[in-house]
Amino acid sequence: MASVRTRIPPSPTGYLHVGNAWAAFFNWLFARRHGGQVVLRIEDTDPTRSSPEYERAIYEDLRWLGIDWDEGPDVGGPYGPYRQSERAHLYRQAAEFLREEGFAYPCYCTPEEVEHERQRAAAERRPYRYSGRCRSLSEAEARHLEAGGRRPALRLDLSRFHDPRWHSEGWLQPKREDGAERLYVVVYDLIRGEVAFALDELDDFIVVRSDGTALYNFANVVDDHGMRITHVLRAVEHLSNTPRQVLLYRALGWDPPQFAHLPVLVGPDRKKLSKRHGDAALREFRDELYLPEALRNFFALMAWYPEDGREIFSTEELVERFDLSQVGRASPVFDRQKLVWMNGEYMRRLLKEDPDRVVDLVAGYLSRHGLLPDPPTPEQRSYVRRVVEVLGDRIKEGPDVLRYGDFFFLDLPRYEPQAVASQLAGPQALAVLQMARGVLQGLDPFRAEAIEAALRAAAAEHGLSMRAVVHPIRVALTGKTVGPGLFELMEVLGRERVLQRLERACSVAAGAGSAV
Ligand code: GLU
Repeated sequence: MASVRTRIPPSPTGYLHVGNAWAAFFNWLFARRHGGQVVLRIEDTDPTRSSPEYERAIYEDLRWLGIDWDEGPDVGGPYGPYRQSERAHLYRQAAEFLREEGFAYPCYCTPEEVEHERQRAAAERRPYRYSGRCRSLSEAEARHLEAGGRRPALRLDLSRFHDPRWHSEGWLQPKREDGAERLYVVVYDLIRGEVAFALDELDDFIVVRSDGTALYNFANVVDDHGMRITHVLRAVEHLSNTPRQVLLYRALGWDPPQFAHLPVLVGPDRKKLSKRHGDAALREFRDELYLPEALRNFFALMAWYPEDGREIFSTEELVERFDLSQVGRASPVFDRQKLVWMNGEYMRRLLKEDPDRVVDLVAGYLSRHGLLPDPPTPEQRSYVRRVVEVLGDRIKEGPDVLRYGDFFFLDLPRYEPQAVASQLAGPQALAVLQMARGVLQGLDPFRAEAIEAALRAAAAEHGLSMRAVVHPIRVALTGKTVGPGLFELMEVLGRERVLQRLERACSVAAGAGSAV
């Protein structure tokens, strides 16, 4: 196989969404698997919606995900420029070629005229296809229209493909249907096999607008050819564009690249991925402490299933084992639960291998939620480190930091009403809290083992089970019924805060305070 070249062609009209990031990752994985190159192309042909901020955000998000590229607007390369807005001269050249070869003709129809045709088609209940009325305009008619101020768009002339010289090439196949011959454009897809589109269902589509700008299908073909792309791996939503692109390649005298149309991502209910399923911009995942290495692993397994059923693969292993021929047509399920699980696995490892990175991530998360200044002081940072140690593998994603540990960073815990009702109501809770205060007041050093020993001794003395002691204290200190180990969290909170919170909870248990 000639050196593989894939492309990542985002439009800078918004932040990179998971679906696009997933397709980008597949292009990267495939290229790296075959020792090939990745080209980043910015598809900014719509100046009203494109912005340099989004372009920068796309670089940042792709890099964060661990995707690099060999050529692109920011790194250059031999087949640039890599921004479509800077490639108008190349589209113009290709358009001239099409005209000279008689593959394209100027169309002077106004939007109103086209709309009229469209309405007629709708009234007759047939799909709209441009009538081709400008195909046979004479020079004189064209000049007359131009003199009247009309600027032509350029349309591809599909009637040219009826010429039998094309029909032996395989990609344009005549088929006999009901006694008549019908032509089909065949798209060879690495995932779907041959997909045939009836030529008569396509129309003479516009390749260059009347203002001179190139349309997606045309720019895409000129660029993929010009950038020597060998494999186009993209979302199946684009499959209906592909026959048009194939016609353009042939009209321009070029061989198309290989296509693989990736299935659409769906939620666990098998419906197209939406916000409800956790579809979001990639940076929202970053903000919620998803690790890029976990996302890469998750992305890879969304459409490709290694035979042995293993789930955790390093990126190097993915690159080594990735096999496009195993990617099926079935829509992969974007299973947020599985992602949480997988991220948890990676977090657990990271906690062992590089705890500083976890501390930085958690500190950043706390700052974004207003619970820590940014940047934290060295003391605050080492406090976060102790909290991270105590929370341990409870942190599977960012929200777990607050779910299990917000009380570490609040003056007073947020008391969950249910926790209060179940654990702080009643005379026994008050007795337990008072007992704990008494025992802990003079305890020195204030360490987890010493705290545990002291509370156990006191419980035994009062004929209480450890359960009866631990639960009210936990709610008093954290506001919740679940969380990290009680004695460890007490050590981290420190004696002063523990006593203060116990005192406050005593007044709740006594029914005296409604402020909690
Ligand atoms: N800019 C297009 C998109 O983001 C690229 C489509 C393609 O891969 O051809 O949808």
